[in-house]
Amino acid sequence: MSGTHIADRTDSVSTREEQTLTKSFACADAGVPCRAKFTGETDEEVLEQAAEHVRKRHGVDLTVSRTLAAYAKSRIRDDGDGKDKAA
Ligand SMILES: [Zn+2]
Repeated sequence: MSGTHIADRTDSVSTREEQTLTKSFACADAGVPCRAKFTGETDEEVLEQAAEHVRKRHGVDLTVSRTLAAYAKSRIRDDGDGKDKAA
């Protein structure tokens, strides 16, 4: 019985997937009591889905209001970007 035990640690955090939907927006994030959530690879992709939903469900057309569109965009979360500053 040897005391040597090789710990098989696989702490690789980097999981590569084809779809990396890192952007997300939820109506709730914008203060709207709604459970709808949208995810995408880019802000535009998320915003596109959100705009359609908001127009149909909430009767607000984001595309006619730059302020609303900008606000919605500002509420988009970037889940993929770790906010650690690698100086
Ligand atoms: Zn909604």
